[in-house]
Amino acid sequence: MLVTDELAISRLEHVPTWFGIGGGADRFAAVRNAEQLRRAMEIDPALRVLGDGANLLVDDDGVAELVVKLEGELSEWAIDPGKATVRVGAGANLPKLINETVRQGLAGLETLGGIPASVGGALVMNAGGKFGEIEQYVVRVQALTREGAEIVLERKDIAFAYRRSGLKDLVLTSCELQLAPDDAGAVRKRLKEVMSYKKSSQPMAEKSAGCTYKNPTLEHDIMDLYDANGRAGRRVPAGLLIDRAGLKGLAVNAVSVSDVHANFFVTKPGATAHDVIQLMNEVERRVQDRYGVQLEREVVVWSRHEHPQRNGKNG
Ligand SMILES: Cc1cc2nc3c(=O)[nH]c(=O)nc-3n(C[C@H](O)[C@H](O)[C@H](O)COP(=O)(O)OP(=O)(O)OC[C@H]3O[C@@H](n4cnc5c(N)ncnc54)[C@H](O)[C@@H]3O)c2cc1C
Repeated sequence: MLVTDELAISRLEHVPTWFGIGGGADRFAAVRNAEQLRRAMEIDPALRVLGDGANLLVDDDGVAELVVKLEGELSEWAIDPGKATVRVGAGANLPKLINETVRQGLAGLETLGGIPASVGGALVMNAGGKFGEIEQYVVRVQALTREGAEIVLERKDIAFAYRRSGLKDLVLTSCELQLAPDDAGAVRKRLKEVMSYKKSSQPMAEKSAGCTYKNPTLEHDIMDLYDANGRAGRRVPAGLLIDRAGLKGLAVNAVSVSDVHANFFVTKPGATAHDVIQLMNEVERRVQDRYGVQLEREVVVWSRHEHPQRNGKNG
């Protein structure tokens, strides 16, 4: 282990992700405050930030850049119940924050119930779904540029869109959220409804990274999908395309397309990141052949062979 200016850097055998597979990090550091983060940026300006690992596939041979996890001061929150505002570190666990805001009778974040994420990861991915997206509650975001400069971005200056924020090249450190005062019982009831919808429609107990693909906007009508508004210009669920292409249950070794929700790829013990990538390639090929639609990956892939800032279109 290398200890430099209070920053302990060590090798991580496996980067912890919700897929439960994949490689490690040659260098890993848990950073607990702004000073440590700045030091980490000096050591490796191309560092990668690990959130909750819920949207992440790490290649089997791991990554060379310094991987940091935001902890301590960078994961704390302060809630002002009178103003219904939250200031929260990017390393905070989103489900825990949701529970706390619900407990205090603040409405908004319950719409994101059941989404595993750090606050930073949720902002970068503009996490959300049927009931809402995190961008609706954002007032401003604090971040570091790769040169180590502190910046503050107001909501209007952030290019939030469906599962996209334009923030992926920054290191997000904290944000301010505006919620709304409400009856705690009513907010809790809504959270339960959101959670039970998710449990009934997604394989929440299995190992996955949530939706593998973004829902595409169709460039042409698809007759097979007329019953689901499959017309040019409409956004349709990627899972529906995969399902109608007959790909539920398709597997590469111990990775398969979920029978519950076709946009979830689930892993069993023995699965590798290579298997996931093979399955993604195969599903993309078959959906392209059948429907002429190129699926865009939502899952972020970390690979030793690609630089993070060039890594996919996500964020
Ligand atoms: C069971 C399950 C259900 C899911 N359901 C949903 C859903 O309903 N809706 C939805 O939108 N998503 C869903 N997801 C996907 C996932 O929860 C979201 O994409 C979430 O936002 C990922 O956050 P994270 O902290 O885990 O990010 P990670 O997976 O750790 O990282 C994702 C990307 O964000 C970057 N990142 C993380 N933190 C920072 C930071 N502080 N600064 C800069 N970059 C950062 C990482 O470097 C990486 O590029 C689901 C996943 C699972 C496993």
